[in-house]
Amino acid sequence: MSTPIRRTSLVKVAEFVASKGVGGKFSKLELFEAVPDVSQADRRMRDLRPMGWTIDNYKVNPNLRPDEYLVREIGTRVDLGETRPKTIRKNITGPKRRRILERDGHMCQVCGIRAGQEFPDAPGRTAVMTIGHIIPVNRGGTNDDANLRAECQRCGDESRDITVDPPTGHQVLTHASRGSLKDKRTLYGWMQAGRRTPSDTERVFQEWSRLPHSERMQVMTALAEQVIKGLESE
Ligand SMILES: [Zn+2]
Repeated sequence: MSTPIRRTSLVKVAEFVASKGVGGKFSKLELFEAVPDVSQADRRMRDLRPMGWTIDNYKVNPNLRPDEYLVREIGTRVDLGETRPKTIRKNITGPKRRRILERDGHMCQVCGIRAGQEFPDAPGRTAVMTIGHIIPVNRGGTNDDANLRAECQRCGDESRDITVDPPTGHQVLTHASRGSLKDKRTLYGWMQAGRRTPSDTERVFQEWSRLPHSERMQVMTALAEQVIKGLESE
């Protein structure tokens, strides 16, 4: 027996937004008409944000009209009785945070995006690195460096688990089996460590990114010469 869900304003708004689905658009008028008894329904929508919902308006998405909204992510389904996941992640701060970010090259260890880069499927939204646990704290994971990794705000958001269709083990193995032996060995190493280690190429790129502009140009030009020579001798 499930207890009936209390039809609060937030629940009604969540139900309407969820009915549009990820990628769905709606106007302010549609929203007001869908929940006529909710005052300031557009403000209630903002209350969904801390629960993992992302709803773009024209201010963050120039493709939208001023009265239009776009559903980017559906978070905790309060309209289906889901409760907000408890924050079990202790904030890792200070030197430890810097050490992990440095080690991981300020790159999300799950999806590979770097701090400050735009998400390819969400123009205008940039990646912010957080520190996540490989083994979650509620399953006995510790705050040791070996159990921590850099994660972008999207991959680190635990409420994502509920909204994204997870792949099957069979699918993942099929994809993994396509790679070369070298790829497989790399992948296996990452799986063992629970995080990807930046490749030598990526490390060099990180070093290069820290150079002053003029030196970056010098190095880039010198490398271009090597590439051209290499192409000629092929
Ligand atoms: Zn990520």
